[in-house]
Amino acid sequence: MAYKYIDNYREQGARKKLVEELRKKGIEDEDVLKAIGKVPRHFFFDETFWNQAYKDIAFPIGEGQTISQPYTVAYQTQLLHIRKGDKVLEIGTGSGYQACILVELGANVYTIERQEKLYERTKQILPHMGYKPKFFLGDGSRGIAKHAPYNKIIVTAGAPTVPEELLKQLNVGGILVIPVGDQEMQKMITVLKTGENDYERITLDTFRFVPLVGDKAW
Ligand code: SAH
Repeated sequence: MAYKYIDNYREQGARKKLVEELRKKGIEDEDVLKAIGKVPRHFFFDETFWNQAYKDIAFPIGEGQTISQPYTVAYQTQLLHIRKGDKVLEIGTGSGYQACILVELGANVYTIERQEKLYERTKQILPHMGYKPKFFLGDGSRGIAKHAPYNKIIVTAGAPTVPEELLKQLNVGGILVIPVGDQEMQKMITVLKTGENDYERITLDTFRFVPLVGDKAW
């Protein structure tokens, strides 16, 4: 694919407008807005589609998958309350855009993708953009036990239930953000781990994600 990593005034201007649009839509966390303002989302698109890159819409990235809508990325990221140095597991690397936002916020990012082509592509592209999360290939519905515990876990695909393994792999004080529902619609759920076996669960707005496919999922 003909990726050209050029960040022109036109794209920078469009990105500023996107940040303002997200602010109007209710994203309040200034650090998250700053990260959205920094990551060149058009780098994830073929040049032919650069005019689509700063619209607040999801977009196909191949293998039947999408780069999430900026509002959704901002919404989930805001719920994670990232602090510098947080160890974060992302399930569903996809394009890698969400991972870049987390890196911008100072997180130590572990990201896992089940589709080999997407894994290979994103693993190759992101370092050229200056982002270096740790990439894993496999079924993230069981988390990555080997590198646990995590301060935060974000699932960027829709799950039928909250996988028990993910809760186990959180630190006490850790937060899981995951869309849960059927394959058409999901509610955003945040789970705060308050003790070794204690959790506080909050159900938020409705979204539509591609399905989380795996052992502990669809
Ligand atoms: N975070 C991505 C959004 C990608 S869409 C971005 O910023 O672009 C969701 C991704 O989750 C898809 O790439 C899909 O292949 C992947 N996925 C689905 N089930 C998975 C699983 N069990 N483990 C890892 N990745 C999974």
